[in-house]
Amino acid sequence: MITRPEGNKHEGCHSCRFWRQGPSEERGPDWGECRRMPPTLPPMEEEKLVHVGIWPHTAEDDWCGEWEAR
Ligand code: SF4
Repeated sequence: MITRPEGNKHEGCHSCRFWRQGPSEERGPDWGECRRMPPTLPPMEEEKLVHVGIWPHTAEDDWCGEWEAR
């Protein structure tokens, strides 16, 4: 498991310019979507007429190497 680099606790999704906070009933109030990359599409099911893109859901204290300040 990769751990956050020491001394970079402010560099989390909560302070990243790519993060859109969006509280989730399933996950809790401190979750949101990472908009760093375009959404991905779930596997196509023929009977569905509408497909919706999905962004990764991350918690506000999550982080990754793509972090950029707001
Ligand atoms: S996963 Fe990375 S790029 Fe996405 S919001 Fe969090 S820190 Fe930013």
